[in-house]
Amino acid sequence: MNRKEISFWEQSAFLKPADFLVIGSGIVGLSAAIDLKTQRPGNRIVVVDRDALGFGGTTRNAGFACFGSPSEVLSDLQSMTENEVLELLTMRWEGLRLLRKNIGDNELGYSPCGSIELFTSQDQEVYENCMHQLPYLNELLKPITGTPPFRATANLDTFNFQGFKAGIDNTQEGSIDTGKMAYSLRAKALRIGVEIFNGIEVKSINSHGTNCTVELQYGELKANQVLVCTNGFTKQLLPKTDVQPARNKVLLTSEIPTLNWDKTFHFNEGYFYFRNVGKRILIGGGRHLDETWETSTAAVPPNVTEALQNLLSDKILPNTHYDIDFEWTGYLGIGRQRKIELSSPLPNVHLAVRMGGMGVAIGSYVGQQVAQSALDHF
Ligand SMILES: Cc1cc2nc3c(=O)[nH]c(=O)nc-3n(C[C@H](O)[C@H](O)[C@H](O)COP(=O)(O)OP(=O)(O)OC[C@H]3O[C@@H](n4cnc5c(N)ncnc54)[C@H](O)[C@@H]3O)c2cc1C
Repeated sequence: MNRKEISFWEQSAFLKPADFLVIGSGIVGLSAAIDLKTQRPGNRIVVVDRDALGFGGTTRNAGFACFGSPSEVLSDLQSMTENEVLELLTMRWEGLRLLRKNIGDNELGYSPCGSIELFTSQDQEVYENCMHQLPYLNELLKPITGTPPFRATANLDTFNFQGFKAGIDNTQEGSIDTGKMAYSLRAKALRIGVEIFNGIEVKSINSHGTNCTVELQYGELKANQVLVCTNGFTKQLLPKTDVQPARNKVLLTSEIPTLNWDKTFHFNEGYFYFRNVGKRILIGGGRHLDETWETSTAAVPPNVTEALQNLLSDKILPNTHYDIDFEWTGYLGIGRQRKIELSSPLPNVHLAVRMGGMGVAIGSYVGQQVAQSALDHF
């Protein structure tokens, strides 16, 4: 629709200038909007999202309230300095704390169930290395979590898995109900007066030094400050950003009457993960199995789905009857760098993207940081 076809009423009521315009209604965008409105109740805060429900990672993730398993932290220490790793872990920990404070454990469906990193006999060397480094990792994390988070899993037999030889507990991780989180964030933003418009795609951002004009699929919107919270999709707006979409697939089983545990599990350095959702099992990951698919919009290759199905039938639920009730994919935002991108690529334009696989943990913290950057320039 071209600008002349916008009605005067649409322009004067909906598309009138905003003080802060947030692009993307995921956890980062909504957290930023809530923070801005809380600090500046008199300002107009608008969130636009191109999708009806905001089909980014926020409404499609697995609901792990996690900050790092031993092998993931050790792998990060290979490519980042200890200080950079500590900074990332602190952001995740702080993000989870903020999310729980802002929404409330009940509204989040939060369970402090803990997690277990699992190892097969092929992973013996990785397991031994993790166990060897456990005292160091516990010392590293204790100042953040307040308590040493890792210990060898006492008894894996209670889960009736097959083929997992050992585990390491992270007592400080948990799970959330992703649907409740996304719904509650949105409800809170609307309740405090944030305006959210879905089904509006931003086509381009023009910064004029003192303010910005954002070209929308329908007309345009002027804003003093623009916050770009589009994660994996950011290159369409800011092509030089080091971020790209990376897909993850998730399966959810039917209810299994005999399932009697509440826990989250990771293995293969976090590339595979599963948990219970009530009496169902959710399993996801496998993006490393096909790197071309990972960053494309092509159909899910059969080997990714097969790998998840085989893990369910052979290792997690052997000799158990179940159906697959739901399967879906969603997009992460990853880049060459593992760090979050928090920057101002243009005057009065603030970027908060590249959440990686732990955006649930980190999102509220990053939202608060990008809101502060916009406030500092307002
Ligand atoms: C299958 C899956 C499982 C995951 N599991 C976990 C987990 O268990 N724990 C965890 O911590 N993290 C997990 N993640 C990662 C986490 O979900 C993401 O890191 C997080 O949701 C990112 O939030 P965000 O707000 O940055 O981006 P998103 O939620 O992706 O939101 C970005 C929004 O921007 C909108 N948008 C994009 N471009 C435009 C445009 N041009 N105009 C208007 N709107 C636009 C999109 O529609 C989207 O709604 C998972 C991700 C996936 C895909």
